[in-house]
Amino acid sequence: MPYQAASDRYDSMVYRRCGRSGLLLPAISLGLWHNFGDVDTFENGRATVRRAFDLGITHFDLANNYGPPPGSAEESLGRILAADLRPYRDELIISSKAGYTMWPGPYGDWGSRKYLVASCDQSLKRMGLEYVDIFYHHRPDPETPLEESMGALDYIVRSGRALYAGISNYPAELAVEAINILRNLGTPCVIEQPSYNMFNRWVEERLLSTLEAEGVGCIVFTPLAQGLLTDRYLGGQIPADSRAGRGHGALRRSAITEDKVAKVERLNELAQERGQSLAQMAIAWVLRNPAVTSALIGASRVAQIEENVAALQKLSFTADELACIEQILAG
Ligand code: NDP
Repeated sequence: MPYQAASDRYDSMVYRRCGRSGLLLPAISLGLWHNFGDVDTFENGRATVRRAFDLGITHFDLANNYGPPPGSAEESLGRILAADLRPYRDELIISSKAGYTMWPGPYGDWGSRKYLVASCDQSLKRMGLEYVDIFYHHRPDPETPLEESMGALDYIVRSGRALYAGISNYPAELAVEAINILRNLGTPCVIEQPSYNMFNRWVEERLLSTLEAEGVGCIVFTPLAQGLLTDRYLGGQIPADSRAGRGHGALRRSAITEDKVAKVERLNELAQERGQSLAQMAIAWVLRNPAVTSALIGASRVAQIEENVAALQKLSFTADELACIEQILAG
């Protein structure tokens, strides 16, 4: 039976404006960095994407190198689009990126115009798309003039390969430079994609306020610290089917330290007092700042999508709860 999207898919998701642009993004978006490669089970990923869309998640985030092997997550999404989501293309925001190593030689990495345009074309081919909604420069390139990388994004948008331009992993000062270059070119930077979670708060120093002032949206990746801020590793256990346990994931077993586990356990107790799971509280916590447009989560199964979307039922924190989180993190 062909997939039919749930008729109530827009009833409960919250959509937030991406900076001062016309683009609305779901408060929770799904990234395909893990769980969609050739090493993963295609039908599981497919079910996850379908459930996400049924729950109002309209935004799916990719990059040229997601897999493993690199490129295979885009191919998986291409298959899911062809099988299920093609009739809903105009309801979807699909992003991709280039900036990390993708192919051998001097033109398969970093930020030259040669690499960014060629990589965007490869991504479109893998996904079977005519255009992506957002195309990002994935990380700053210290060797290439910023004008060239941003000029390539401008060209990618003007040539119809993408609708919006974005930057990822740019520190505040460089982000402002990139935003200004793009603004002067007439292709505004719509979004920045940095990391942000309770254990990684660098964006609070300057980036979030800078983006807000510039009218640029912000989608934060790894809000669950790759699964650490969930019930996955409570008690210091490392389940065989978890990201840290599976071996090819980016979360190292060595990252599950005693200190982290002790904090996670205290945070988990607080979440329970709030009537939430820890994953739900961690998502609500990154969304507490209005400069954050969307929390970009990953999910290895349908149940995680359902649990995480239910975080939206309780986004608010009392001052005491926020203070308690600060105390636990500082402890
Ligand atoms: P998260 O911090 O949300 O971690 C997701 C992982 O946490 C899941 O795969 C799952 O791992 C576990 N998890 C999720 N929900 C639950 C739950 N309810 N209960 C228990 N465990 C749960 O984000 P990711 O690290 O996956 O990153 C998200 C996206 O951000 C990426 O897909 C990508 O799009 C983007 N990203 C961008 C980067 C950039 O440089 N621009 C870099 C990194 C990510 P498990 O396998 O253990 O079940």
